[in-house]
Amino acid sequence: MPARELPSIDRIMGHHSVRALSSQYGRAWVTDVVRYQLSQTRSMVLSGIVTPALESIVSLIVKKMHEIGQIGSRAIINATGVILHTNLGRAPLGSEAAQAILDTVQNYSDLEIDLLTGLRESRQKQVKDLLCYLTGAESGMVVNNNAAAMLLALSATSAGKEVIVSRGEEIEIGGSFRIPDVLKQSGTLMVEVGTTNRTYIHDYESAITENTSALLKVHPSNFRIEGFTHTPDIAELTQMARKHGVLVFHDIGSGCLFETEKYGLTHEPMPQESLAKGADLVLFSGDKLLGGPQSGIIVGKAEIIELLEKHPMYRALRVDKMNLASLSATLLYYMKGEADTKLPVWQMILESETNLKQRAKKWAQAIGARAIVIQGSSTIGGGSLPEETLPSWLVAIDCGKQSAKCLELVEKLRIGKPPIIARIDANMVLFDPRTVLQQEDSVFLQRVKEAIRD
Ligand SMILES: *Cc1c(COP(=O)(O)O)cnc(C)c1O
Repeated sequence: MPARELPSIDRIMGHHSVRALSSQYGRAWVTDVVRYQLSQTRSMVLSGIVTPALESIVSLIVKKMHEIGQIGSRAIINATGVILHTNLGRAPLGSEAAQAILDTVQNYSDLEIDLLTGLRESRQKQVKDLLCYLTGAESGMVVNNNAAAMLLALSATSAGKEVIVSRGEEIEIGGSFRIPDVLKQSGTLMVEVGTTNRTYIHDYESAITENTSALLKVHPSNFRIEGFTHTPDIAELTQMARKHGVLVFHDIGSGCLFETEKYGLTHEPMPQESLAKGADLVLFSGDKLLGGPQSGIIVGKAEIIELLEKHPMYRALRVDKMNLASLSATLLYYMKGEADTKLPVWQMILESETNLKQRAKKWAQAIGARAIVIQGSSTIGGGSLPEETLPSWLVAIDCGKQSAKCLELVEKLRIGKPPIIARIDANMVLFDPRTVLQQEDSVFLQRVKEAIRD
């Protein structure tokens, strides 16, 4: 097919669908997209993937233009009931943490200056102080995410040496983060001990050689092995390791800073707990149960943290001013004892069944005849409290026997503005009020009503 048979730019620009795009997005922007897509289409036509028909090219352009047009506002409404949804950006920030980002980026900031002395200061000073207060650590630091924290900790302390890991903890977190791969990348030699279900203190001890640098303990954050299992407590490990002059690192995953039992949830490991039991470094994420921005937090012995800060890799893994500002603001909620009442993640986890039921009833009434209220459950997600589901009340739209109708409704909600993400179960589209912020209620209901009516 000769490429000159492609419609001209003028012809495409004159098509009524493209004219509509121009009035929505502005002619300049649309022309650029048309020109680029036409050049892409040329090679696809030559290789026979696409026909040069005007309508097919226009529909491709319309799709691409809407994709680009959506860039800018990325807010969505999460009606899935999964609180820490990695695909949906994990933790929504507290309002003061969000404001801290705005304050930092709309002005110059005191990123690396001590205002009292006028001298240069570490960008991590504030967050370091907060981490020490909150966990009792000698020192602390922040990097890009928990994966980076582990890579840096191992590279800076143990490259060319042995690190001992239990076979039960050689886990995959998701997104291709696998413990053995990170060890390899850091230049350490992984020594596996124990079995998938049972590892004892003497397994670790008998694997220690002159070349052993550290024991790495990893919290199996996204699954549970039940039954015939054993793993030594971190206190047991650190006592034994100290005798041999070996370090202990504990990757606890979520970084929960208070006792989850007091809310009737299963125990989540806390950094202060591991430190009190003698761990040299504790590593965790900032955007899981902590409820802050994407970040990897390291707390522990000052001399080891200093080693990490001096390692050339640190510069490549460090966080920016927005991240530091919002993480500090998030940690302040904990300092003030307000984390459970003011951080969205904790508000959602702790929301009462009575309130959820009331809200679901209000929603069903507003949506109309096809909506019913049913009992269901929400999940915490994001590799936190894996066996925990939280009882909830959901609004369900029954699609009868037509599962295609469910898919159609979910797609309509996902593609409109603001996008709404819902789940499908047993031929019903389900909406969980737990993860929908209160202030989103009216626009959420408006969109659902419209989508069902169409
Ligand atoms: C989630 C998780 C990680 C990875 O954390 P990121 O911040 O996503 O890099 C590492 N280890 C454990 C145990 C986790 O749960």
